Amino acid sequence: MLLVIISALSVSASVKDKSTFVLVIDAGHGGKDPGAIRYKTKEKDVVLRMALALEKRLKPYHTCIKVIMTRMDDRFVELNKRAEIANNAHADLFVSLHANACSSPKIFGVEVYTLGVAGLERENQVAKMENSVILMEENHAQTYADFDPFSPESYIMMTMVKDDNFNESIFFSKMINDSFSSKKVATRGVRQAGFLVLRKTEMPSVLVELGYLSNKKDCNTLKSWQGVSKISGILCESILKYLKQQGVEVVKTKEPVTTLHVENDVKRSVEVDGEYFSIQLAASSKSLSVSRFGLQYKDVFQKNNKGWFRYYYGKYKTFNDAKVALASVKRTVKDAFIVAFDAQGNKVSVKLLLGK
Ligand SMILES: [Zn+2]
Repeated sequence: MLLVIISALSVSASVKDKSTFVLVIDAGHGGKDPGAIRYKTKEKDVVLRMALALEKRLKPYHTCIKVIMTRMDDRFVELNKRAEIANNAHADLFVSLHANACSSPKIFGVEVYTLGVAGLERENQVAKMENSVILMEENHAQTYADFDPFSPESYIMMTMVKDDNFNESIFFSKMINDSFSSKKVATRGVRQAGFLVLRKTEMPSVLVELGYLSNKKDCNTLKSWQGVSKISGILCESILKYLKQQGVEVVKTKEPVTTLHVENDVKRSVEVDGEYFSIQLAASSKSLSVSRFGLQYKDVFQKNNKGWFRYYYGKYKTFNDAKVALASVKRTVKDAFIVAFDAQGNKVSVKLLLGK
């Protein structure tokens, strides 16, 4: 399934309009990999919310920037796969979002990283923590045969070509850092370390540690809507600034977005065998245009019954997957809710499905 998507993507990438800037937003971790956990807050949730908020903020600029998400829900994506998605799409910029944690609750602030081996002990600690996720990947011994996330030699060996991408990555990371500083958000500066997720990308790439979950204040900021709104705004501003600097004409438009790009969409769009959960968006006596929901077309489906048109989003095997998706759907469709269907596609009570 994934192979089909990737090859289809390569085809579309080769004919892609070169005037459109392609940005990949990579929400770190996901699925079985929660990332850092502090104060009952999981890094995977925090960064997903931020990635979705950023994607939404960039929507009005869709005529000049195409956004690709490595994940839009709670799923596990291998590190190499994230880079592959960006490379296949010939992306112009890769932004990986993470949240930090350390043993001292006093340390706080944003850190912006580019790939490098010059990092000090502290930087490489952060990279080690982020890289250790590969141990959760099946076949990691083969995939990362030349890399042991815990061996210092691996970091020294990490190939580091100081090309245009390297300079651009540094340039962009400074831009992000300055944007945070100008909005009075504490930063700990621009750093370099051996992050595996940045190793294989073929475009300017940065990894932003959005704050420390181990610091109560940072953690609360990252959890709150005000915090998400503020930080996603800063990230959006830095990206638009970078676009302008690249000579892209930044145009804001009210035109609705017709598609949202999730190139790694496996779980969401698969044909679900048997019963499933979904999200009801609306019920109407008249047929509605799918674009009104501001969601990805292919995940919205319609069922007609007794003169009513009902619109649903996504098919999920587990209630938990549906719950995670609901959180993002509610950003555009406030009164959406979870429903359940049996194997024949008939609506059943959620309780019935949960009870199984
Ligand atoms: Zn992380």
